[in-house]
Amino acid sequence: MNIRPDISETAIGCGSAPVLRERGQREVFCGLTGIIWLHRKIQDAFFLVVGSRTCAHLIQSAAGVMIFAEPRFATAILDERDLAGMNDANDELDRVVARLLERRPDIKLLFLVGSCPSEVIKLDLSRAALRLSQAHMPRVRVLNYSGSGIETTFTQGEDACLAALIPTLPAAPANAPPSLLIAGALADIVEDQWLRTFAALGIGPVHFLPPRRANDLPPVGPNTVFLLAQPFLNDTARALEERGARYLPAPFPLGVEGTTLWLKAAAQAFGVDDALFDKVTQPSIFRARQAIKRHSATLSGRRVFFFPDSQLEVPLARFLARELDMELVEVGTPYLHQTHLAHELDLLPAGTLLSEGQDVDRQLDRCRLQQPDLVVCGLGLANPLEAEGLTTKWSIELMFTPTQGYEQAADLAELFARPLNRRARLKVA
Ligand code: SF4
Repeated sequence: MNIRPDISETAIGCGSAPVLRERGQREVFCGLTGIIWLHRKIQDAFFLVVGSRTCAHLIQSAAGVMIFAEPRFATAILDERDLAGMNDANDELDRVVARLLERRPDIKLLFLVGSCPSEVIKLDLSRAALRLSQAHMPRVRVLNYSGSGIETTFTQGEDACLAALIPTLPAAPANAPPSLLIAGALADIVEDQWLRTFAALGIGPVHFLPPRRANDLPPVGPNTVFLLAQPFLNDTARALEERGARYLPAPFPLGVEGTTLWLKAAAQAFGVDDALFDKVTQPSIFRARQAIKRHSATLSGRRVFFFPDSQLEVPLARFLARELDMELVEVGTPYLHQTHLAHELDLLPAGTLLSEGQDVDRQLDRCRLQQPDLVVCGLGLANPLEAEGLTTKWSIELMFTPTQGYEQAADLAELFARPLNRRARLKVA
């Protein structure tokens, strides 16, 4: 069965692929979710959500409550009562921050994270961050960004956080040697692997954004070139360009092909010759391809449907189609950033149905009609679809698992194979 929606009115061209644009009800997590992986990455930062009880519940249930360690996130709950006088709300925020910093001398960077309740929207968090920074510098810098569910998908929280950091990056001197900046939160293990690869290629210095420690902010300037490690960093990329850095267009480092082309973009920018590039990358490519093969029997020929959620959908679809021979039924993504995804879109099979935005009921109808073997979607849709007999993969898991680079390519394939294997085992039982 291959039923396609009527895209005559809503479609626009995107290379050779049709794109279905939808602006209806969405089913996604908000940007506060990014705190779950960001607080682990920047080890001396603290994320103070200024929000409601709902925000506090989301953060606590999604991130878990750490019993043995001091948490590095919290929610300052604001309610209507606080708004009786806005000055009171600001005073209360100042008191909360002072108490927190007094109790936690390990905090070097504090993010005030905005949310969407109307009480919070009325509060000017950028002014609050400036005021608190002046009060607590040089010991602690205070920045702010929005994780509001009104304007974000869940990965945009990371974009907003990194974009907030960029004005604070030190300026690289005009005569500094060329340097490479990798933007996007990555597992430490992935960063370490890439540092070794770049060193073998003779590329350096290499910096990562976000850094592991708040005081290790990477320098940036006209001699900086940057690669995006994640496809959802539009504001971050723009802010880096405003600081003079140059974007290196490339596919994203998911799977063998994406990783090779991503590394190649850096190699070309630094004048690495092809022979050295092949010598450094070929052993990893060979090993990764062998490891991926273990999952081919499960995934090859199976039909996959992506609901828009993480913004990783297009690179993942490219990986599954080209390296595991899966059939793409629909590739939904919250936003289709034409510039950053240009190389990815070129690699998708001709005629792939792309959808941008969401009208969740219509999309569910299409999904049910198509009966794909695997549905990649948010938590809110996964359980109902499982109950209907469809096999699902939670897209948020892809953010919690190291998936970038050669060494993780087979793990990435396994994330998609696992629900299919589980369903097969349940059928046998
Ligand atoms: S920011 Fe908005 S969407 Fe997110 S948890 Fe708070 S109230 Fe809910």
